[in-house]
Amino acid sequence: MEPEIFSRTDDESTMLRQIIEATPNAMLMVDPRGRITLVNTQTEALFGYSRDELLAMDVEQLIPERFREHHTYRDGFFDRPDRREMGAGRELFGRRRDGTEVPIEIGLNPIQIADEQHVLASVIDITERLFVQAIESAKHADRMRRSILDSLPFSIIASDADGTIVTANPAAERLLGFDRDELVGSPIGALRDSVDMPLLATRPDAVDEREVDYSRKDGTTIPVNEAISLIASDDAEVTGVLSVAYDITQRREAEAFIRHMAHFDFLTDLPNRTQLFERLDHDLRLAVRHGRGVAVTMIDLDHFKRVNDSLGHHVGDELLVKMAARLRAQVRPDDMVARLGGDEFVMVFTGFDSSEQLQRRIASVLKAIPEPMVCSGHEIIVTASLGIATYPLAGSDPTTLLKHADAAMYQAKKAARNSYRWFEPSMLDATNDKLAMAAALRHALDRDEISVSYQTQVSLETGRVVGVEALARWHTSDGRDIGPDRFIPVAEDNGLIIQLGEWVLRRACADTMTMSQEVGFPLTLAVNVSPRQFHDRSWLDVLQRALDESGLPADRLELEITEGIFMDDPLDTIDVIQTVRSLGVSIVVDDFGTGFSSLAYLTRFPIDKIKIDRSFISDVVVDAADAAIVNTIIVMAHTLGMTVVGEGVETSAQETYLRDRGCDVAQGFRYSRAVPPDAIAAAIGS
Ligand code: C2E
Ligand code: MG
Ligand code: MG
Repeated sequence: MEPEIFSRTDDESTMLRQIIEATPNAMLMVDPRGRITLVNTQTEALFGYSRDELLAMDVEQLIPERFREHHTYRDGFFDRPDRREMGAGRELFGRRRDGTEVPIEIGLNPIQIADEQHVLASVIDITERLFVQAIESAKHADRMRRSILDSLPFSIIASDADGTIVTANPAAERLLGFDRDELVGSPIGALRDSVDMPLLATRPDAVDEREVDYSRKDGTTIPVNEAISLIASDDAEVTGVLSVAYDITQRREAEAFIRHMAHFDFLTDLPNRTQLFERLDHDLRLAVRHGRGVAVTMIDLDHFKRVNDSLGHHVGDELLVKMAARLRAQVRPDDMVARLGGDEFVMVFTGFDSSEQLQRRIASVLKAIPEPMVCSGHEIIVTASLGIATYPLAGSDPTTLLKHADAAMYQAKKAARNSYRWFEPSMLDATNDKLAMAAALRHALDRDEISVSYQTQVSLETGRVVGVEALARWHTSDGRDIGPDRFIPVAEDNGLIIQLGEWVLRRACADTMTMSQEVGFPLTLAVNVSPRQFHDRSWLDVLQRALDESGLPADRLELEITEGIFMDDPLDTIDVIQTVRSLGVSIVVDDFGTGFSSLAYLTRFPIDKIKIDRSFISDVVVDAADAAIVNTIIVMAHTLGMTVVGEGVETSAQETYLRDRGCDVAQGFRYSRAVPPDAIAAAIGS
């Protein structure tokens, strides 16, 4: 719909000319062939052509050449007027007479004159408008940039080519503690080592990243990761350097922590195995050079598992931490305490001049360990077994020394609580052939290498033998006697204890009937049962069958269990104990007192009898603490209706002490060692 605003009279065409002349814009009329037919003064001014020149030109000549191709007049605008935006402002460029370009906005209006389609164009010079817009948008962009810079968490510092700071963002202020005003104008070299500019310049637009320390206002330094890039002008001249940096204190700390973790034990913060080996290796090199000694001491806490099991892991952990501190207090700067894991510690002593000196230091460690300590409100006395291996006698490399210290520790553990052993080559057999022993033990039963010996138990009231304890013996085919302390743990490890235990039980029940006949009065029988057997249900059938087959009355059979059983699985333990007792068989707690918070069990479990561990009995007449423990155990047990046995009684003084305190039964070398069943009558007669 082309608006027909003009008629075709001359008057009207004059009027049109006058209107065009009066408008502030450049106006020009173009005929269907693209020729300019009418212009106003403003058009002359805008394009720099005179009116006559313009009226002789094609409109295309007012458009820069590069746009002409796209110009719509070419492809017949007047045939397809609908293709053309009429009225609306379009921004394009005009071409002046002098060849310069001018940004313009044009509005097009179709006009019908003498059946021909003409176009009236109004042209506005928008140079100024664009300029203002450009400034506006530049301002906006700058504000954008500024606010981005201000909110970035990175420190951003720009310096000029001389290294003078020209700007810095708030993150830089925060990082360094300087205000922007203090930073601007000062040399960036005051903040950190200068950058090798030429090097950087060889790689244009390269970003160089490095870790450096920035100096802060308060004199401290802060580690940062700094990315440096060059600021270059359009013609590639370096005008400055942009330093973008962020604080890497935390990362550094994390790295240091990881390095620490690789060498130190997490719980106690003592050096770990890795660090121990490194240090020991170093110490040994020095020792070789200076001809001095190095002693490696393996320390294993006694019954530590029981602390964990009975008081909880947090108490166990607390104990380890306190023990670590205690051990650390015992060493000199050149010595070392390390934790190998679990309850195993290693102390390395260096710089001692004589073995007496070393002995004194070890003695002081041994004295410090069992000092009472309070962990989460529990007073705990923990002892340890020590094994010592010295360079050069027991080895000259870390691995050998540690292995030998371990073998010595194993021997100490076997012997008694809180003791130590020096490494001797013979100790190696004990640990080395554990595997061989396990294999040999498998055949021991078939080959009749296992037997049972019996040790008497004496009533302290009457002085008469009342019963026997069955103790397993292993006499190997090649003539060696291996004690139960060595082979029972192996049998427990490989599961053979089930078979072995069954065999001992049946053998002992049968033997007891025979022995009772021989001595002429009914003996009671005590049989040791290991935890593994105890939790095996089929074992209850084995028990019943042993009684049935032998004819031993159930009330003459006692089963000896250790405190550890209560910690394994308390509910199951109570269940088994009750079943056993319902058969008429008694339950005895063996080695009583070596566990922790032992007395508490007495009230919780249905127990008939307790055997005070021989480690207490051995010192009962000389050690006030042991005496106090023994007294307490006897009183408590009697209060709870239990019988008390003192085990390992060797002297009359011990016997007298126990009898005076009301202990019921005694067992020990004072009366008899364990003997084969056919020797029991003789043992009792003597
Ligand atoms: P236990 O049940 O506490 O047995 C007492 C141990 O102390 C026996 O050692 C015995 O010979 C020893 N002993 C007795 N009186 C004295 C004394 O006056 N002084 C000294 N120094 N020692 C004395 P043995 O026969 O070497 O047995 C060691 C442990 O092996 C036993 O300790 C027991 O826990 C275990 N054991 C022995 N036979 C068996 C068994 O058939 N089954 C199970 N599960 N364990 C057994
Ligand atoms: Mg026993
Ligand atoms: Mg015992």
